[in-house]
Amino acid sequence: MGKIKRKIKVIKIDVDKCNGCRACEVICSAFHATPKFSSNNPARARIRLIHDALKDVYLPVYAGENAPAECMGRGKYVIDGKEYDECSFCRASCPSRGVFKEPDSGLPLKCDMCESDPPLSEPMCVQWCLSNALTYEEREEEAEEEVKLDEMETGLEALAGKYGLQKLMDTVARMSKKG
Ligand code: SF4
Ligand code: SF4
Repeated sequence: MGKIKRKIKVIKIDVDKCNGCRACEVICSAFHATPKFSSNNPARARIRLIHDALKDVYLPVYAGENAPAECMGRGKYVIDGKEYDECSFCRASCPSRGVFKEPDSGLPLKCDMCESDPPLSEPMCVQWCLSNALTYEEREEEAEEEVKLDEMETGLEALAGKYGLQKLMDTVARMSKKG
């Protein structure tokens, strides 16, 4: 495998600037609705605000990879005197909590950095975060060529985990005969 130049997209989160407005959740779910902007439901957002007003915790977290099993141990974080609950910083869609799962199908949601054609100047959540808690950066890195794990693969992995790989393959074979 050869070397390729890879563009790395980064959203920096400054938790001290987050005011808990949840605009990021609203615009993410609206942008990913079908058709675009036809509805908004923060439960479908790929960014969620972990919020505890009593502890003064406002923590935006992006949806990462699907984890078919929950982890065996948990960590507690205390940062600047604030205690964060065990799963707060985790980006996974996993069986032990409801976030980052599509509410109707249960399929995992994953942040796609707002891939779009034509491309966006900045991801939607960054554009809508008026307090600048979210800022966008790009950089280039050299990396080994690799097969891209896209959203479709994440969804298929989840279905295979739920129904079994053989059943999934039988269904696809049946569908391809119909097509
Ligand atoms: S839009 Fe910005 S300030 Fe509002 S909840 Fe999201 S990250 Fe926080
Ligand atoms: S970058 Fe795009 S897909 Fe990711 S959380 Fe923000 S609005 Fe949603």
